[in-house]
Amino acid sequence: MNRLFDTSVNVGLRQFYVLGAAGSIGNLFGFVGNVYIYGLSAPTIFCALCTLVIFGMTFWGIRSRHVKRAAYVIITLITFFEFPILYYIYQTGTIVYMVLAMVAIATFLPTTAAVIFGCLAFLVDMSAVILAYYHPVDVELVTAESELNSMICSLMIVLFSVFTITIILNVQQKKQAEELTSLSRQLEQAADHDALTGLYNRRYLNRYLERLAQKGKKDVYAALIDLDFFKKVNDEYGHAFGDEVLIEFARILERNLIADGIAVRFGGEEFMLILPDVTEEEIRHMLAKMSADYRLFGKQKKNRAFTFSCGVEQFADGMDVSDVYRQADEKLYLAKERGRDRVIINR
Ligand code: GH3
Ligand code: MG
Ligand code: MG
Repeated sequence: MNRLFDTSVNVGLRQFYVLGAAGSIGNLFGFVGNVYIYGLSAPTIFCALCTLVIFGMTFWGIRSRHVKRAAYVIITLITFFEFPILYYIYQTGTIVYMVLAMVAIATFLPTTAAVIFGCLAFLVDMSAVILAYYHPVDVELVTAESELNSMICSLMIVLFSVFTITIILNVQQKKQAEELTSLSRQLEQAADHDALTGLYNRRYLNRYLERLAQKGKKDVYAALIDLDFFKKVNDEYGHAFGDEVLIEFARILERNLIADGIAVRFGGEEFMLILPDVTEEEIRHMLAKMSADYRLFGKQKKNRAFTFSCGVEQFADGMDVSDVYRQADEKLYLAKERGRDRVIINR
């Protein structure tokens, strides 16, 4: 039952489960009904044979994964042989089976094949109806009562099959749609974020800046941060610890960000903060808190103060990311030159 709705199972195979199950169960009921109404007559045995073939094809299709071929065999059997022959023999109520075959064709076959099969089924069904009228056969003794029973039995089977097929396919489709929505959300998240720290990446930064420019935001600052002596951290404590530091530093940035600012991992151990609607004073205050947190983290982990250097530049009219980056980088370079562990906003 689980595999019926398991979205990791190939769609064709999942649909085939529905065809195989509905076909086998429906036919089995048909056979049992026939035994009950007419006993073990020739048409009843024909029904039993069809049930066996559908069972066998379902089993073979699932085992060998040749679900397409198996589906064609099952649909060909019921559409062009079983249902027209049953109608030819019993007439009246068994005509609803022809509708069921058409539902199966439209549901389980690829569009082009469905159109061809649909047209052929129409011709075969019409021929069976006309032939039954002009040249009826007397294989079975059809009484008024058996006719009623046959009609009730056929109707029940068709109603049950159509209802079950539709409901299961509907649920399958809903599950698939949910899976797709969650996948596209994951994709979006992966495309906009850095895999290690979970911060935004440069791709997102560019889009974010475009949006800011459209809104005509003023007083937007970019703070370029570079961790001090990070190579040493890696060399002394290992690359894995270096990763841990980067992840923790990202949390420190996020925790202390002010207003609608965003934090971006710009490259290795370089980060950029974009800060709209803030004053220089607020930036200084925020960076001081980040610095204190990072220092404390180093103290707690390795009994040594971790530090970073930072260059802050304000976006002026007509500047793009590379202009701002260049200017902020110059200030960052100055901060490094003057002894690191500092923020330079104005030269
Ligand atoms: P400075 O104070 O001048 O910035 O010195 P630094 O050692 O921080 O600068 P440098 O550019 O020489 O070294 C940066 C180091 O960052 C080197 C590189 O191995 C490390 N790094 C970059 N990306 C990652 C990463 O994803 N994980 C880890 N563990 N290390 C990284
Ligand atoms: Mg660097
Ligand atoms: Mg560095």
